[in-house]
Amino acid sequence: MTDLSNSETDNPTLDNGKPTMGGGWQVISYWAEKTLDIKGGMLWKTLLHKSACLSCAWGTGGQKGGFQNEDEENLQRCAKSVEAIASELMEPIPQHFFEQYSIPELQKLNSMEADRLGRLSFPVIKRNHSDRYERITWDEVYAIVAKAFQKDPERLGSYSSGRSSNEAAYLLQLLMRSLGSNNLADCSDLCHSASTVGLKRVFGSGTSMVSLADLKQSDCIVLVGSNAPANHPRLMNELIKLRDRGGKVIVINPLIEVGLVKFASPAYPIKSFLKGSEISSHYIQPISGSDTAVFLGIQKALLENNWINYEFLKQHTEGWEAVIEQVRSLDWADIINTCGVSREELEIAAEMIGTSQRVVFAWAMGITQHSNAVDNIFSIANTALLTGNAGKEGAGTMPIRGHSNVQGFGSMGVTIRLKEESMQALEKLLQRSLSRVQGYDTRALIEASDRHEIDTLLCLGGNIYAANPDLTQAKRALGNIETIIYISTKPNLGHFHGIAKENTLILPVFARFENPHKTTTESGNNFVRLNDEGTSHLNQREGTDLISEVEFLSELADRLHGHDVINWRSLQDPKYIRQLIAKTIPDYAKIGEIDDTNQEFTIANRIFHSPNFPTRSGKAKMFVTPLPKLELPTLASFNLPEHTKAIALILGTGRSYSQHNTVVYKDGDYYRGMPHRNCILMSKADGDRAGFQEHQRVTVRGNAGEMANVEIIYGQIREGSALMFYPEVNAIFSAPIDEQCGTPAFKRVPIAVYI
Ligand code: SF4
Repeated sequence: MTDLSNSETDNPTLDNGKPTMGGGWQVISYWAEKTLDIKGGMLWKTLLHKSACLSCAWGTGGQKGGFQNEDEENLQRCAKSVEAIASELMEPIPQHFFEQYSIPELQKLNSMEADRLGRLSFPVIKRNHSDRYERITWDEVYAIVAKAFQKDPERLGSYSSGRSSNEAAYLLQLLMRSLGSNNLADCSDLCHSASTVGLKRVFGSGTSMVSLADLKQSDCIVLVGSNAPANHPRLMNELIKLRDRGGKVIVINPLIEVGLVKFASPAYPIKSFLKGSEISSHYIQPISGSDTAVFLGIQKALLENNWINYEFLKQHTEGWEAVIEQVRSLDWADIINTCGVSREELEIAAEMIGTSQRVVFAWAMGITQHSNAVDNIFSIANTALLTGNAGKEGAGTMPIRGHSNVQGFGSMGVTIRLKEESMQALEKLLQRSLSRVQGYDTRALIEASDRHEIDTLLCLGGNIYAANPDLTQAKRALGNIETIIYISTKPNLGHFHGIAKENTLILPVFARFENPHKTTTESGNNFVRLNDEGTSHLNQREGTDLISEVEFLSELADRLHGHDVINWRSLQDPKYIRQLIAKTIPDYAKIGEIDDTNQEFTIANRIFHSPNFPTRSGKAKMFVTPLPKLELPTLASFNLPEHTKAIALILGTGRSYSQHNTVVYKDGDYYRGMPHRNCILMSKADGDRAGFQEHQRVTVRGNAGEMANVEIIYGQIREGSALMFYPEVNAIFSAPIDEQCGTPAFKRVPIAVYI
């Protein structure tokens, strides 16, 4: 087992200058810095506003104010949430800013500098003959955008992130489909698409089957490929409570994240904050990309120790015999060689799972961003099913979703895999048949744009440029599109690098807590929140002119469709949108009553407390998962200059501790000891093998470019693996996709590191 003991130091929270636990004083000082500053009053007002947290999909922000989670527990706000709100409370970008700076000048900004420019507060356009953005009226915006949408529907596309509401998401897909386009790319194509695809094939439902209340009943959680302390901080409280009641936490991750070893939670000042709480009971550090092999090893140990629940398999699953047969026939040596984890370590994990009563299997992008990502999901689901840990309280599978309403977008039909049932409901609503042409997901949209096959792209939030691999291609592809419309609250790199051939528009919209109407959002655990209407500080600033996303989309739809079976303009009132959602989105009927009852709710048929799954047979379907064949890069394939000191590694891209998706809030990463963003985290053993020193500057080369002057930082990462920050490192590689779900393999990128 990996040695996680800390060396003796005078300061128990630091070891050789690096933190020995997650959370802690850093969190408190961040809260203090933000809440006591000049904008502290506004920040508190927003924290107390009844609306879902802007940041992750854990879904904080409940009935009685912004501090409640969906289980009505109080004090559930983390520093990440504060970061996101503080950023939206910035002053507007000065009125003449865009006149002063050309696009080439703005392209010199990094992600954090772009974000820090301030809030967008009036619409701007960059025309093809100009080198800069200029202010434009909303009338001209509608005229240009409406004209841009009068194209062959297959040459229209949209991209979205989970920032917006369910209502805006529903309108977006209704607009696109009513025009005949299914090109509804979404940020989830780049992250959790494998979870949706895999879980749907196994269980008939593509989201978490576990509620927050279930988590509180589990006695074991297997956390795979997740850095929850940074990205879903409130989950840490659940892990602390689970350990306190005697449960086990198995962590599987090539990198030892300090907060997954020990975490000091400000929510428990006495018992956790001062000394820290132990999180992992068992930490497995596999070779990057070998997770299916890890789970096959665990399954083999379960089988050999009679921890398989045959009764459950026979009654509630299909295909289990083939899975058992595969596991039985696998050689331990092949499993161990593939994942690099000893049999003993896998057996310890199997014993913890096999002897627990209620096990939750949770994962994030360390599992989904691989070229065999759907197989990874199958292997996790198989492990849950082999032990009867699905379809009962306190147990099951739980993808940990990223952006606050990313799951809501999928539910609202912003997907290229719309259920036939929903398609037919939309046809009934629109009283016409809709296109069945396969739409483009995010990678396919970029490829189509690169082939000059897209004329108009509407981006509802997000940063399609920086979120993609191979930024040279992304820039070129976006540059082939005639008109791009970015609907955003703040500037990002995409606005300056993703410039269209003819017109690029940036349209400013209200943040979630500022909308003049109520909206809804869906948490990763299937809970629908009602966000109260609010006001924006920007309304009091001179020259500002923002609207809501719902207002923009319904007005555009009205201009495009005129008089139709739907009164598009009346959809400016989101109550009507909620009525349409209730009629056409499966299991969302309760949203139709929410304006009268104010009752937030769990979506029907998503949480499984009995093993009746929404598949044709009512049984879960198990799939055989092949052992991955992991090829290691050789230096020869990188065509390096002669006489270089070099090493080939597998890179995983990741977010720093102060980053929300492509938005960077702070330069360094305190918990990983990375002082700035141009660092590579690698193991000392790899550094020694290559003849490098820590803090030395190196060049990192991928298959699409290289980054120079990168500082080496040693950390507890699996030998042969490295970590760098996205989106910056996306510039240097193109990535294969998992054909089953379209997600690029961001977590297994071959690189050469050299001087
Ligand atoms: S855990 Fe996620 S949802 Fe909860 S407060 Fe933190 S960022 Fe927001």
